[in-house]
Amino acid sequence: MPDFALNQDVELLRLITTDDPQEWEALFAAARRQRETYYGREVYFRGLVEFTNYCKNDCYYCGIRCSNHQVKRYRLSLEQILQSCRVGDMLGFKTFVLQGGEDPWFTDQRVLEVVEAIRKEYPDHAITLSIGERSRKSYEAFFQAGANRYLLRHETANDAHYRKLHPAAMSLTERKDCLFTLKDIGYQVGAGFMVGTPFQTPENLLEDLRFLQALEPHMVGIGPFIPQADTPFGGYPGGTLELTLKMVALTRLLLPKALIPATTALGTIAPQGREKGLMAGANVVMPNLSPKEVRKLYALYDNKICTGDEAAECRFCMEGRIRNFGFVPNMTRGDVAGWNRSA
Ligand code: SAH
Repeated sequence: MPDFALNQDVELLRLITTDDPQEWEALFAAARRQRETYYGREVYFRGLVEFTNYCKNDCYYCGIRCSNHQVKRYRLSLEQILQSCRVGDMLGFKTFVLQGGEDPWFTDQRVLEVVEAIRKEYPDHAITLSIGERSRKSYEAFFQAGANRYLLRHETANDAHYRKLHPAAMSLTERKDCLFTLKDIGYQVGAGFMVGTPFQTPENLLEDLRFLQALEPHMVGIGPFIPQADTPFGGYPGGTLELTLKMVALTRLLLPKALIPATTALGTIAPQGREKGLMAGANVVMPNLSPKEVRKLYALYDNKICTGDEAAECRFCMEGRIRNFGFVPNMTRGDVAGWNRSA
């Protein structure tokens, strides 16, 4: 195995910036081997339910930011959310990921209703929330009600860069605090960042990796930034496939046990982007379970793939893609390796 001295910042920076395709391949190969140590060739499936596109935040990169008045807003009812989970369950999913904008209509009480209802119907499934920043008390209540995992990308670990991507009302310190709190409560936690956001430097990416090492999250979501025309960043170039794959591979090497999705954004910028993500060390896919009518409306970025498909199509399309690359679909809950907390 090629020796990468990843504890040295200079070497890590060199790998982040190298444009030598041979070196990329060596990195991807090392990441694949690392992944196989804990997870073999298994790829874990999560069913994604995008249940609201209302958002009180105004992130400059995001298509569902509150200032974007071109978006038709929607929120799913409790019954619609449950129905999406039922379809997912019939398709074999054992993890439901509920993601949305930071929608004030979903008070703690209403989120609790959703979590409790799913938990009651599915005692053994994993419930993942991805609904942004809330108080410790709220996170604790969701956990008590049966939520097991929480996805909250830190977006960028550098404070100055964070402030270029978000309005002054948002703070990186708070976001990082949320991540440590979630871990402390006992969630399996997912952090992560976008690659190629405006003003991002290689040093910022290095900082993202060092932050991940300090946090030790169980999951890491990494995707390219993709411009959305109706946002302030609509005219900026997106992140590249190569750099995103390198960041996936480096994350795998630094956090061997992490569950790393091959993201929809990666699949959006290249025809086999997700497959390439798996070949660079990722081991999770998140097919969409949202009702077909609302899929196009959860438009964080332009040209998002799979918005015209039914849940079943996504489920089986992903299975085929995975098998074509010699990976094995795994429909179990897929907790992080070594996880022993009871549900
Ligand atoms: N409100 C939740 C979910 C956010 S949407 C939260 O705050 O965590 C999920 C992720 O989509 C974000 O964390 C961000 O990293 C990503 N995203 C948003 N806009 C994007 C864009 N234009 N290109 C690529 N990814 C984007």
